Amino acid sequence: MVRCRFAPSPTGNLHVGGVRTALFNWLFAKNQNGSFVLRIEDTDTERSEKRFEDQILSSMKWCGLNWSEGPDIGGEYGPYRQSERVALGFYDKYAQELVERGHAYYAVYKKSNQEDVLRISMEMPDISGDEVYTIKFRIPEGKTEFSDLSKGKMSFENENFSDFIIIKSNGFPTYNFAVVVDDHMMDITHVFRGEDHLTNTPRQIMIYRALDWEPPTFMHIPLILGSDRAPLSKRHGHTSVDHFREEGYLSVGLMNYLALLGWTVDEEIFDYHEKVKDFIPSDISNKGVVFDYEKLEWINGKHLRLLDPEELMIQFGLWLKFTGRFDYYAIIESDQFYSREVLTMCREKINTLEQLFDFSAPFFSDELDYQEEYVSKYLQNNWSKDLISAAIRKFEDSLDWSVEGVEKTVRELADEKIASKKNTFQTLRGGVTGRLVTPGLFETISVLGRDRVLERLENLLE
Ligand code: GLU
Repeated sequence: MVRCRFAPSPTGNLHVGGVRTALFNWLFAKNQNGSFVLRIEDTDTERSEKRFEDQILSSMKWCGLNWSEGPDIGGEYGPYRQSERVALGFYDKYAQELVERGHAYYAVYKKSNQEDVLRISMEMPDISGDEVYTIKFRIPEGKTEFSDLSKGKMSFENENFSDFIIIKSNGFPTYNFAVVVDDHMMDITHVFRGEDHLTNTPRQIMIYRALDWEPPTFMHIPLILGSDRAPLSKRHGHTSVDHFREEGYLSVGLMNYLALLGWTVDEEIFDYHEKVKDFIPSDISNKGVVFDYEKLEWINGKHLRLLDPEELMIQFGLWLKFTGRFDYYAIIESDQFYSREVLTMCREKINTLEQLFDFSAPFFSDELDYQEEYVSKYLQNNWSKDLISAAIRKFEDSLDWSVEGVEKTVRELADEKIASKKNTFQTLRGGVTGRLVTPGLFETISVLGRDRVLERLENLLE
């Protein structure tokens, strides 16, 4: 049975590189009818924080990358938080075993200088009050080889590595040791992770061999790069999942884009759930891939327009609540039929929920914010008042508020030649929304409906 895991360290928010790693593990686990496990690697006590763990779990849930075992739900291989595993003595036990087998030793230091080893021993050392000790792994002779699913055969000369600490002086294991103990104890069969771990893997394989354990199958995923081809970091722009969530990306859009970073899929726009059946690890490229913010936005727009109207309402509502816009949420909920019409119309021209929020704002508030350009170019003309009065008369008489009906009324108004056709259209557009860029004029007027349109035009004459 295939068992994959995602093992984030709670030292910061979940970022796009981490989610992409999680996504590939998730896709493979699902493809193989296996398990996807979430493990929190919090042995770096100084940098780990519970609030980051909470954030990572919440981001993972939002992404839809559900796990069947993890710190929040437990499972038969628990606990799933390394700090809790320390308390159970798992790492100590295997560190002892390595010492007994001659693959590790105790190293004693002065408290004030933990760089220079004072002495080593094969037994738990007697130390004085100003000393501390660690347990170090002894690098064997020879070379370490493994076959990477994406990169092929990898070979490392052991002499290029130095003995490394597996148990720190505070009693906590280091990453390279804890990850081996846990992946082994949790029966993990496949480890897909970022290429930045490539030089950790030989160290880990040496530990597996020293304990006579079978290593899992590894795949190292190429790094995500910024526009200058340096590894993507904050200096290139935002990278945290929460940021994209706040900006109004759909998780299915973000996942779609991240899947394309390194994986060649036959289509460009897809729901990642539907790609489970096609996931083959060897299709992952072994070259770095550049993160393209514009393409991500474009893909998100496609997904927004693919949602059925009911789902669009749900996603928009969730986003309003996530960003704390509860009053706005109440307005949307109070007239669902109208809201649905507005949102489905507005999404044609935008790519994110945040843009949808901005673009649809004039439809949900009667206090219009008139753009300066609208006022100076269209409202302050000698014909403006006549045109608006004529528009009010026409709309009062009009019974047909369908898009076609509105179009007929507006064209008749233009035929009266109070102003040019363009001026007529733009004066109406700005008059009912305050803006010069809106959804199609006839649709806008039709969706706003008789009462709002007349009230807004009448306001202009006051
Ligand atoms: N905690 C490690 C990290 O966040 C996990 C690496 C691994 O998958 O082994 O980088």
